Amino acid sequence: MLKSLFKRGLLYNKRVLFVEKDSKNVNDRTFCFWAQPDEDIVTDLNGLITRSWGSVTHHAEGIASMLPYRYYYIKGIDLYNEAKSICEHVDATWKLDAVDAIGRDEKGSFVIVGEACIYSAQIFDSRPPKYLPIKFPKVHLNQSFIGWFISHDGQYGKEDTLTLMDFSVPQLGNTQFMYILPFDQHTALVELTRFGDNQLTEEEAYPILETYIQSRFGDFSILSTEEGSIPMTNAKPDVKEMEDVTLLGARGGMIKPSTGYAFKRMYTFAEQWKSKSLSKSDRLGKERFEWYDGLLLYILSIWPHKGSQIFTQLFARVPLARVILFLEEKTHWKQEVSIFSKLPVWLFIKTLVITQFHLFRPLLILFFIVVLNVNGPLDGLQESIGWIVLLLGMIFVGFPHGALDHVIEQKAKWNTQLLKFISMYLMLMAMMGMLWWWSSPLALLVFLLFSIWHFGQADGVYWEMSPIVSLIWGSSVLLFILGTHSQESSDILRTLGYLGAVPNIPIWYGLPWLGLAIWRRNLNWVLTILWLALTSNLPLVMAFGIYFIGQHSIVGWLHLKRSFKLSHVHMWTKALPFQLGAWIFLAAFYLFNDQIAALSSVSPWAIFFIFISCVSWPHIMVMHRFYLKYTGNL
Ligand SMILES: Cc1cc2nc3c(=O)[nH]c(=O)nc-3n(C[C@H](O)[C@H](O)[C@H](O)COP(=O)(O)OP(=O)(O)OC[C@H]3O[C@@H](n4cnc5c(N)ncnc54)[C@H](O)[C@@H]3O)c2cc1C
Repeated sequence: MLKSLFKRGLLYNKRVLFVEKDSKNVNDRTFCFWAQPDEDIVTDLNGLITRSWGSVTHHAEGIASMLPYRYYYIKGIDLYNEAKSICEHVDATWKLDAVDAIGRDEKGSFVIVGEACIYSAQIFDSRPPKYLPIKFPKVHLNQSFIGWFISHDGQYGKEDTLTLMDFSVPQLGNTQFMYILPFDQHTALVELTRFGDNQLTEEEAYPILETYIQSRFGDFSILSTEEGSIPMTNAKPDVKEMEDVTLLGARGGMIKPSTGYAFKRMYTFAEQWKSKSLSKSDRLGKERFEWYDGLLLYILSIWPHKGSQIFTQLFARVPLARVILFLEEKTHWKQEVSIFSKLPVWLFIKTLVITQFHLFRPLLILFFIVVLNVNGPLDGLQESIGWIVLLLGMIFVGFPHGALDHVIEQKAKWNTQLLKFISMYLMLMAMMGMLWWWSSPLALLVFLLFSIWHFGQADGVYWEMSPIVSLIWGSSVLLFILGTHSQESSDILRTLGYLGAVPNIPIWYGLPWLGLAIWRRNLNWVLTILWLALTSNLPLVMAFGIYFIGQHSIVGWLHLKRSFKLSHVHMWTKALPFQLGAWIFLAAFYLFNDQIAALSSVSPWAIFFIFISCVSWPHIMVMHRFYLKYTGNL
């Protein structure tokens, strides 16, 4: 940035203070980038570029030309010295100190350095950022690398060829590869790079480097070492935009998440600063590539062993110039489709479904309801499809999401702790039962209120609503489902002691929520409101079942999964004993329906709902405690 400002005369008549906490007098990193020889970055930085290469190999055999690109190399120390020399040519002070804070008040923007508060018309901030919390499907990996500048007596072959992403090294549960930048026939930088959660350590890297170099070059000596780590994340830097403060480098979000490259982006940004703002179409383009980066990062984080397959296929099947164009985010979407078709397609589709599940799910539900609604009231076939899907939904997620309370409370082992937990659970159920016996209208009110609370809480956490908005949402959903089926709801509630009639609610009552969801640009929420509106044409139990399974249970299940860090199958198995209990109850209820009806003056349906309310009560308390912990309030 300094070099660009200087070149463009923007430092003329300005006083510059350069605050850097490091003396910057060692060659701590290399800056490499792809470019065509006639690009501005090459002509501008010509004096700093010490080396460039025109072709690539991946594992000693097969050399591919990069034409029309070359790979350029700048020593970090040369760039630092250039910055220092520019400071000597302008009215600049280089201060070896740390910036403690950057802020703004009525006098303007300022930096705090120790005791000093220095105001400036323009501040450039490149302090390494913290990142916003990682929320699924965002990923934070590290690209860590350890390399040696070596001198050797062996033969490398063509000096114009660099070795890129050679995966013939142990992967150690990550995606790891070697690269070699040959400076001449007898010196080279050989570096081991890891994409992974854990940083590469010297203990891990040194033996791999040694074996690799020995096998390639024979005896060698180490001239110097390069180590570093670059964040590979699609999470945004946790920074505040401030007037007159320009964020640079990693802090400005300029590191490409899937590659860790930033230098060329930083150069381009510096050149465009104050001369051109990004156009809308540039931003739209970026969103598409951010999305691709996200897919790759997700794969690398969940299936790190797939990394070598993806990159090997990429370089083997796609011409290098096309790959570079893609990494530079300059390809057309048709070229991108062609590139993806050469990669493990199913892996990307699977990742797409998992990472975009929040959109697939409401779309699938919307489709399901449209199928049920397609020609007016349900016919026999549609009704059967509806019930079968709901039955499967109850088996796979409806019951299981509520049958993990013992795991949440960490009472999953068969011992006295579990027995105590079950006794407590039964006691709470009995309390609810007694409330029904004592005053059914009051029990009904309590049942409705805690259902509202529970539904609102799960959705509220999912859509990041405040507790009060969650509560209003929970009540809106329940009232909407009941009110758009007022006759059926009144019949059922009457059996439970409610004497009035449920008011009829037209579906446009959902419009304010739709407006809010659109305003918050939450497509998942928008789709959910749309399908909820369509459930008004289905029978009440089916409409409620779709919300209960398709939204509430799945959302709760996903929250639990993220917290337990267990697989779906593992969680489902853990829920099985209590899910079986629920099915046994239902079977008994169905088989002995007539006897229940004969025994009691209360209708069997009322007994069924009373039981549901009794089971729900302790579950909702457990889930409330869970959500307090989950959202970090406990
Ligand atoms: C070893 C390494 C090699 C890389 N190689 C490449 C590459 O080949 N190609 C590529 O495109 N990208 C590369 N990158 C990625 C990226 O280009 C660099 O990380 C780039 O330096 C990022 O620039 P930056 O300004 O965000 O951070 P940095 O260059 O790290 O600069 C931040 C500076 O702020 C200073 N600082 C931190 N806190 C304070 C404070 N409170 N007060 C004052 N000073 C402070 C630090 O000492 C540091 O000098 C590499 C990164 C590393 C770490």
